[in-house]
Amino acid sequence: MKSLKRRDFLRATALASAGAVVSKSFAKFPIEKLESSEIKPIVIASANGLKAVEKAMEMIKSGSDALDAVIAGVNINEDDPEDMTVGYGGLPNEEGVVELDAAVMHGPSYRAGAVASLRNIKNPSKVARLVMERTDHVLIVGEGALKFAKAHGFKEENLLTDKAREAWLKWKENLSKEDDWLPPHNIEDDDIGEIIKSYYRHYGTIHCSALDLSGNLSVVTTTSGLQFKIPGRVGDSPIIGAGLYVDNEVGAAGSTGRGEANLLNCSSVMIVEWMRQGKSPEEACLLACKRVNERCREKRLKDEKGRFKHNVKFYAINKKGEYGCASMWSGGSYGKIQFALHDGKEARILEGVSLFKA
Ligand code: ASP
Repeated sequence: MKSLKRRDFLRATALASAGAVVSKSFAKFPIEKLESSEIKPIVIASANGLKAVEKAMEMIKSGSDALDAVIAGVNINEDDPEDMTVGYGGLPNEEGVVELDAAVMHGPSYRAGAVASLRNIKNPSKVARLVMERTDHVLIVGEGALKFAKAHGFKEENLLTDKAREAWLKWKENLSKEDDWLPPHNIEDDDIGEIIKSYYRHYGTIHCSALDLSGNLSVVTTTSGLQFKIPGRVGDSPIIGAGLYVDNEVGAAGSTGRGEANLLNCSSVMIVEWMRQGKSPEEACLLACKRVNERCREKRLKDEKGRFKHNVKFYAINKKGEYGCASMWSGGSYGKIQFALHDGKEARILEGVSLFKA
């Protein structure tokens, strides 16, 4: 969706076509003093964000503010039923209900907005933006977030696709052989309902950060969170400083992966601070991995060598248009460390670095 000019915004508000209302009032915020020749627009996202970085860069090139651009980018994933980690089609909580978390942060105004445990609304990033622009708050959760979204005209819809419901049912039926939910079986079968051996905690999210032609930075992170979570569980994605952060003078960062680790380490704000101290985006992302690993004291979360065994992944860009991505693990079942990038020339999937190799 194209950003609205102020006069269009007034007309749009009058029409109250909610959910689609986007104010374009950012021009009044001071713009960083960079020579325009020094500004290298850039968009980074998690690996599921190739279309998102394309969309965001297309908007930035036509003059959009970075926040308009990154939100429009991640809306593609939120609307896509095939992306089972975000928005419509996201994997549900343990009761089979999709609960979404999202946050936005706007560099030039140093404002942010977020929603958590939001049900029935497929674009939580748009609601997060309205929390930033149309309330005195930063974070609204659960029932309150749904009421707030409806007050702005968002329509409730069932976000659980058949594909996500079937995945949830398979998990539920195979969780324990002592409970009442059974997978398909024969009458001779004995070990039915055994915990799926290959089952692992599955995470997934889209994070997207951008630097626009005015030299301004903005970020968004949006997710359906940890699959089959306890209802009401909130990860790092909607928490400013943990799942995303931007300092318009320095850079922007965001994360995907085990949210609990980032909540405990405020990883995104740390990455931005390390960049302020002179680290490159990649070095800063790697330092965040080190910090998560070194601070973990819980044996159940470590492998036999005492290393943090879950994955966390960080994405960062700085004011100069440099970028980086690092994760705790690569290789084996963790796969390649990939991220999406648009440097103004083309959208690409690139490989990042990791602290450990499986
Ligand atoms: N970080 C998200 C969360 O913990 C999930 C993910 O990125 O995969 O909710």
